[in-house]
Amino acid sequence: MNDKANFEVCPPPISTEDIKETFDTDVVVIGAGIAGLTAALSAVEAGAKVIQLEKGPCCNFRGLHNAAIASRLQKQEGIKIDKEQLIYTIMETASYRGNQKVVNTWAENCDRTMEWLLDMAEAANIDVALDPSTKPWYFPNYPVIHVFDASRFGWQSGLANMLLDNGKRYEVDLRFNTPVVRLVREGNGRVAGVIAQDEAGKYIQFNASKAVVLCTGDYGSDRQMVKKYCWEGVSEIPSLYPIMTDMAYAKQGISGPFNNEPNTGDGHKMGMWIGAAIDNPPHCAMLFDYTIWSKGKLFNLARQPWLYVNLKGERFMNEDLPWGYECSQLMQQPRNIAWSIWDAKWEQEAPELKSQCCKNMGPPTYLWNPKWLGEEIENGNVLTAHTIKELAQLMQVPIKTFKDTVDRYNEMARNKKDLDFGKHPDRLTTLERPLFFASQVTAVYLVILGGLQINPELQVLDTEGNVIPGLYAAGNVSGSFFGDHYPTTIPGLSHSRAWTFGRLAGLNAAAEKTHRK
Ligand SMILES: Cc1cc2nc3c(=O)[nH]c(=O)nc-3n(C[C@H](O)[C@H](O)[C@H](O)COP(=O)(O)OP(=O)(O)OC[C@H]3O[C@@H](n4cnc5c(N)ncnc54)[C@H](O)[C@@H]3O)c2cc1C
Repeated sequence: MNDKANFEVCPPPISTEDIKETFDTDVVVIGAGIAGLTAALSAVEAGAKVIQLEKGPCCNFRGLHNAAIASRLQKQEGIKIDKEQLIYTIMETASYRGNQKVVNTWAENCDRTMEWLLDMAEAANIDVALDPSTKPWYFPNYPVIHVFDASRFGWQSGLANMLLDNGKRYEVDLRFNTPVVRLVREGNGRVAGVIAQDEAGKYIQFNASKAVVLCTGDYGSDRQMVKKYCWEGVSEIPSLYPIMTDMAYAKQGISGPFNNEPNTGDGHKMGMWIGAAIDNPPHCAMLFDYTIWSKGKLFNLARQPWLYVNLKGERFMNEDLPWGYECSQLMQQPRNIAWSIWDAKWEQEAPELKSQCCKNMGPPTYLWNPKWLGEEIENGNVLTAHTIKELAQLMQVPIKTFKDTVDRYNEMARNKKDLDFGKHPDRLTTLERPLFFASQVTAVYLVILGGLQINPELQVLDTEGNVIPGLYAAGNVSGSFFGDHYPTTIPGLSHSRAWTFGRLAGLNAAAEKTHRK
């Protein structure tokens, strides 16, 4: 690795005189996202006294998919997934840069953890549905998706609420607006606690007689870190974090599902300051195709595998790629922009396209409201025209090139054979019936998946590969799992890693020997 950036250098120590208050507990969990909520609940269930510290004013959740391999719901539906093949897909997508023992730990424990979540959901009257997403495709999704009643609760708030409520029942001492700023490590010894700041900025120390569990999420909101650790180009594209904060769904449930400004890689930094090893760069970004103007809602109509052209009016890709690959293609286009173009047949065609999980416009539709089209035409975000020439003029792309592109595309669609990019015949639709519509799509990143190296027990490792005693990591602050790309054909894997490893880290932390001062 090259020279250290500022954020990698430990700031001066906080003196004991500056610590205004001290609390003792068994386990400290840092962060209250899906990994932190699971870790705190699991540790407290196992009999430990737990203090959980959250930087923001609420818990953090977003998205809606949760992967499992052989849950009771999947068994009821007769769904069979080849676990070894799935592990292979994760390792291969990571270019074998993950640690297979860590990946195996996820694969071996995700179903048990899902059963624990399903029991809790049943008790709380929360429906959990499968979304097998088995469309005919050249990139078949593994049928792993479980959704915790997104229609009723909005996004992941069903799951997050449930974990939070159970944590309260078991008396997890959860404190909001309390950012942790330092891990307390005695020399090369164990991590014995943390220093946090209260709302007035005063330092408070929390001693952990058993262990500290880092669950601070990713570093997507720290552009310097993205530039240093993520692959080239990601730091140039928008992050969905600031865009999604004002999302309508933020008003539902326990928190804003897109309230991610706190995700500045604090856990990565604090870990490195005490000697933890971080995954070798480049880290992978969870990329996502998005209509950037839609500020808060997923305008799925534009995200369908219609004809896409770049700002030169040229087609450049198979529009039906999994979104991670689609974004890699988008990022190669001028200004990271594509026009998505559809025609008046969209109401019949869109549900039949059966796009990948949250792009899907067929039932169950959590994420699409037909009245949005009229609104966005009104707002100027969707352009409409009666002819292809008029549409080209509005899009400001070269008219002849665009017309030639549409003609060739229509011919291939009629022949059901994409000679240029091999799109599946079921998703080749013609552009022939006015009105014609156009809207811009761009690549953004959701989270960055690279973190502190861990072993299969979720213990954080130092740069020599030795365990840092008393320190665990789960969720996006932890590494040793992903490599170059996120495997988008396993939707919900990142949530599943967060709650599976959150649970294991919480249980392992609670089982640690007690160290009294
Ligand atoms: C829009 C969007 C949609 C997504 N959809 C999906 C999906 O459908 N399926 C899927 O698998 N994944 C999805 N993801 C990714 C997924 O949400 C995350 O990978 C996962 O939630 C990570 O959980 P976590 O607990 O590790 O981190 P987070 O949920 O980010 O939680 C970390 C918490 O730590 C807190 N924190 C940070 N620093 C400190 C500090 N110093 N002190 C105290 N607290 C601190 C933060 O405030 C935050 O609450 C999506 C992501 C986004 C942005």
